[in-house]
Amino acid sequence: MNLKSLTLEELTQLLKDRNQPAFRAKQVFTWLHKGVRTYEEMTNLPKDLREALAEEYPICPPEAVRRQESRRDGTIKYLWRLSDGNCVETVLMRYRYGNTVCISTEVGCRMGCAFCASTLGGLVRRLEPFEMLDQVLFTQVDSGFPVSHIVLMGIGEPLDNFDNVMRFLELVNSPAGMNISMRHISLSTCGLVPKIHELAERKLQLTLSISLHAPNDAVRDRIMPVNRAYPMEALLSACRRYYQATGRRISFEYAMIRDVNDSQADAKELLRRLKGLPAHFNLIPLNHVEESPLKPSTRAAVAAFQKTLEEGGVPATVRRTLGGDIDASCGQLRRKYQEGN
Ligand code: SAH
Repeated sequence: MNLKSLTLEELTQLLKDRNQPAFRAKQVFTWLHKGVRTYEEMTNLPKDLREALAEEYPICPPEAVRRQESRRDGTIKYLWRLSDGNCVETVLMRYRYGNTVCISTEVGCRMGCAFCASTLGGLVRRLEPFEMLDQVLFTQVDSGFPVSHIVLMGIGEPLDNFDNVMRFLELVNSPAGMNISMRHISLSTCGLVPKIHELAERKLQLTLSISLHAPNDAVRDRIMPVNRAYPMEALLSACRRYYQATGRRISFEYAMIRDVNDSQADAKELLRRLKGLPAHFNLIPLNHVEESPLKPSTRAAVAAFQKTLEEGGVPATVRRTLGGDIDASCGQLRRKYQEGN
């Protein structure tokens, strides 16, 4: 058990059972959420308590085994080694509105999307709440850039690790911790429909981001196996429900793949199917993954697609690709490291 996976209330109870007053829990919680690497650093705690906690609940901070900084845009990519030797990626992006950390939620992924490097070796294991929190904390500590926004868009499928992700959100949102507002957090999913319904019930103010990548079931079945379990109509109706429950506009990710999902007919079909659902599209030219035959759309095709969506009343932006020079996308760094490159 790692203390950093506990809420302040749970930590208070745990320390109370050791005859410690409530203010001690607050102190420990605050230190842990500052990203200390040892209990030694908790200078306002009695020495014997520090030693006892270090013995029983080691902090186990991740170790940065790679750190790559883009010369073009300041994006920093970390490869962290977790205490069991597994590695995950985290990316820090510097936007005008704030520094954004993109975290991983699992080691590997079992969703099998045809264009994605994260899923090539399958799912190894799910991350614990503190391992997601650590990515934010230690990226902030190492880079020196205060983090204001988080996107759950790294390796893994967040809704396939539902309970741990919900707890992570509670932790990172905690006023005694990082205090990051839900409105500054985006959660991206490939479309696990029952979990979207469950998320809607929690009525969190986060942005739900759907990796849509196709205008219909024929195309989506081909590139995203999850669609065979939860077809598009079920997915879009879960999105409508999410909007009704939270009032939050849905954000759709759409990786533009040459001759697969990027025609004018595709854009028009999307407009028909999304009618009445407040949405925003993020068009992302496909990042080429060595193991895959799929190719990015041409610039002209991306621009034409965007224009058609916009003219149909759906706001669409073309995602600026950051960190292209440092493999800052889609599980590529972890794979290279595993292969020993
Ligand atoms: N499993 C979640 C979280 C991963 S987010 C999800 O599917 O949404 C990572 C985003 O990058 C997803 O939208 C994913 O579909 C997209 N992606 C994966 N590989 C990509 C590639 N080669 N090019 C562009 N986008 C890609």
